[in-house]
Amino acid sequence: MADSIYDVIVIGLGGMGSSAAMQLALSGLKVLGLEQFEPNHELGSSHGKTRAIRLAYYENPNYVPLLKRAYHLWHDLEWRVGETLLEECGCLSVAYPNHEVIQGIIASSALHSLEVDFLSHEQLAEKYGFLNLPESYVGAYEKLGGYLWVDRCVQAFQKIARNNNADLLFETPVTSIRNVGTDIEVDTPKGKYLARKVVITAGPWAANFLGTSGKCLSLMRQTTHWFMPEKPQDFFRDKVPVFMVADQEGFFYGFPMVDPEGVKIARHYGQVEVHQPSEIMRKILPEDDAALRVFLNRRIPTLAKSHSPLAKTCIYTLSPDRHFLVGPLPENPNIIVGAGFSGHGFKFASVVGEILSQLVCNQPVNLNIEFLNLGRFLNDSDR
Ligand SMILES: Cc1cc2nc3c(=O)[nH]c(=O)nc-3n(C[C@H](O)[C@H](O)[C@H](O)COP(=O)(O)OP(=O)(O)OC[C@H]3O[C@@H](n4cnc5c(N)ncnc54)[C@H](O)[C@@H]3O)c2cc1C
Repeated sequence: MADSIYDVIVIGLGGMGSSAAMQLALSGLKVLGLEQFEPNHELGSSHGKTRAIRLAYYENPNYVPLLKRAYHLWHDLEWRVGETLLEECGCLSVAYPNHEVIQGIIASSALHSLEVDFLSHEQLAEKYGFLNLPESYVGAYEKLGGYLWVDRCVQAFQKIARNNNADLLFETPVTSIRNVGTDIEVDTPKGKYLARKVVITAGPWAANFLGTSGKCLSLMRQTTHWFMPEKPQDFFRDKVPVFMVADQEGFFYGFPMVDPEGVKIARHYGQVEVHQPSEIMRKILPEDDAALRVFLNRRIPTLAKSHSPLAKTCIYTLSPDRHFLVGPLPENPNIIVGAGFSGHGFKFASVVGEILSQLVCNQPVNLNIEFLNLGRFLNDSDR
């Protein structure tokens, strides 16, 4: 027998689950959110001070309408909590002209009439002298790009969810879910809960709940490092935007100096793929910043020798095409999934929460999410 009955249970309260819990609670549903760890934990994917946000999405122009809605909902969240969560300090992308990043930004900005400044090598050197770039590189600058205060965003979603009567239980791992008639029973060491629908937003642990649809997911350890410049003012946000450099040795990105610990720099992807969160080394190793130091030596020499007082590990949950999995589970439409955010999902958390809530409530989703459907990786034999 279940201890309590809910309209919907959200499994996993990182960025996506907290946003979904908030939207579901705002819709007037009786919501239970279950999280295996304590609030503000750093074992998933939604921590580490900042996340980049941008509109002219090189990855696929289909994301642009989602991003427009995401921006609107981030500002709505700021209004609800009375805090600034999204800082529009600009975003600069740099690569050689035929690189998929530049070509993708051109395609997205043309299709959706977005304001992007394309910069020659000379213009880059004049405006962004902190970057030491080869002559073959060009840039794309988006004024509306910037960053989100990731930890505060998650806390804000949870605060508004609670204010709207959602029950959020931490240190409550879900051990199994099963159909009971038309409802779903969710088991935890603290008790059993029954709901008409379940939302799976379990990040790196999502595959545990997705059956065959979860087989396509893999995980990748990532580390982010803060470098303290000798002259911090040279990296303040009036001079340095969020930046991404598609370089020979990989894809690197960084933020202006907005943290007391320094300038946050990381490499996107570039690590081995594994399948279990338990395979992810949590400790920071001395060699973890080696690739970054090579990059800094070459491209940001003023940061190359600086001391790195802080580093964090984080996990990417990857789908094979690096696009998200959002929609009902093919074998059970009462289970709605937001997973596989592939290292670029946080900026969408506000709109993903709204979409997951609309799917739970059987409301129309007025945005194209077909390209994110869960069925795309299933063979006929899996269905
Ligand atoms: C280093 C790094 C940098 C990134 N940079 C950017 C960026 O600049 N811009 C951007 O848009 N995106 C970025 N991303 C990606 C983005 O952060 C993620 O896509 C997003 O945070 C994923 O959120 P999530 O809610 O799916 O997962 P998570 O935040 O991991 O949340 C899942 C939650 O589910 C809980 N859970 C799992 N299993 C259970 C269970 N059985 N019972 C109860 N709870 C459970 C977990 O404990 C966790 O809290 C970055 C990611 C990393 C790692």
